[in-house]
Amino acid sequence: MQTNFTTAQLADPHVAESEKILRKCVHCGFCTATCPTYVTLGNELDSPRGRIYLIKDMLENGRPADKEIVTHIDRCLSCLACMTTCPSGVNYMHLVDHARVHIEKTYRRPLMDRLTRGALAMVLPHRGRFRAALRLAKLGRPIAGAFDKVAALKPIASMLCLAPASVPATSPLEKPGVHAPKVARKGRVAILTGCAQPVLDPGINEATVSLLNRLGIEVVVPKGEGCCGALVHHMGREEAALASARQNVDAWTREIERGGLDAIVITASGCGTTIKDYGFMLRLDPAYAEKAARVSALAKDVTEYLATLDLPEPQRKPGLTVAYHSACSMQHGQKITRQPKDLLTRAGFVVKEPREGHLCCGSAGTYNIMQPEISARLRDRKVKNIEATGAALVATGNIGCITQIASAAKLPVVHTVKLLDWAYGGEKPAGL
Ligand code: SF4
Ligand code: SF4
Repeated sequence: MQTNFTTAQLADPHVAESEKILRKCVHCGFCTATCPTYVTLGNELDSPRGRIYLIKDMLENGRPADKEIVTHIDRCLSCLACMTTCPSGVNYMHLVDHARVHIEKTYRRPLMDRLTRGALAMVLPHRGRFRAALRLAKLGRPIAGAFDKVAALKPIASMLCLAPASVPATSPLEKPGVHAPKVARKGRVAILTGCAQPVLDPGINEATVSLLNRLGIEVVVPKGEGCCGALVHHMGREEAALASARQNVDAWTREIERGGLDAIVITASGCGTTIKDYGFMLRLDPAYAEKAARVSALAKDVTEYLATLDLPEPQRKPGLTVAYHSACSMQHGQKITRQPKDLLTRAGFVVKEPREGHLCCGSAGTYNIMQPEISARLRDRKVKNIEATGAALVATGNIGCITQIASAAKLPVVHTVKLLDWAYGGEKPAGL
């Protein structure tokens, strides 16, 4: 694609990066076929190619974002299916991230939108606040229907509906510490405890530590680690996202220097995609660029890490048929497709792949709160395809997908690592 940025504009490294990306796009439109919003809405401006044109126009003319571009960029799930499909290697992720920062800096959103986004950014990345909010949401659930009747209040209705009926007890894993294996030590990793996931389902990280320990892997929960920053990053809140990234880079760098790390294990693929991008996000910060690149190189999804280990025979072979839902951040963001299915098969599960596996379930961070209608259409389509497999349960590697699919599916939805932990001698996951 031809671009017409001025030399002065290209002096801004963010614009220069976006220009490089734009020039790779040959506007072939292959990406439209796999874009969930284009497939759902049928509008070119809700396709990757349409959004690329809108972003180019906004950046090239150096103008503030307007309602039209905000509408179409907000509808983008950042699922990155377009990047998997694109034959020209267009890095849509970095382009849309830049556009979101530009929108955040130049566009004044309607009041309710500002309040909702502000509340989400203030609450979700903090475990204590999120836990308290979920308890409050439980009380507000009976009146969710009233909020749903007013367009501007729909996000509140969605939040109330997505909140679990009960909030699990705080896990000891939330505290920093070292979890040593009882067998001979074969490796040492840090685990990202994260923000929303340990509140919604602390059993995911507990199963991970229990499984890794049984396999001889020491697991460290470093002091000072917190939210990966993805939630605010996708809102265009660059400074907040970079602050989270720096805090985590510092925490993991201390561990790398103290005892060495073979990997930074992540159990939520949405977080994994962001942490693997820290090297890029902090590339312009001389104090952090190198450390962030090292952290990104060490970041591994738990299934990606498990696949590198010499696994013993499973202790039990459950024989259950599992529909494997590959989160977008897993298959498109991190290009991890084979390992979770191979591990499940090896552990004795029969793995089925639902039709249209490339399409997002509509969760996408806070998307199911901010865009409830499109999100619900995608969820229902996903659940129909999952249920058509005839599987007994769903396995996936991202808490957002678990919450989203479980809100409509009749089958239990379980994190992949819980099933693996069970097969290799751990506890049977609740609800099976
Ligand atoms: S597939 Fe790639 S090159 Fe083709 S229009 Fe989409 S982003 Fe551009
Ligand atoms: S990230 Fe997903 S929703 Fe956004 S343009 Fe690409 S395919 Fe479409």
